[in-house]
Amino acid sequence: MKMLLLLLLLTGKSHCADSTIVYICDSPGAKKYHLRENCKGLHNCQHRVIKMTLEQAKRKGRTLCALEK
Ligand SMILES: [Zn+2]
Repeated sequence: MKMLLLLLLLTGKSHCADSTIVYICDSPGAKKYHLRENCKGLHNCQHRVIKMTLEQAKRKGRTLCALEK
């Protein structure tokens, strides 16, 4: 019974929304994350555009790009 509960918790985690892939500009001044790789906000990026999970982006203190709404 305990095993089943543990399994449910683990599988539930993999469906977490924070594992969504987001795009950020790898610049020290950038504060946003982007949901689309071709977002206009990323066109201004003078550095590399890197991919990460939403959770990682939030941990870096990034907030959602205003152009995504
Ligand atoms: Zn954006």
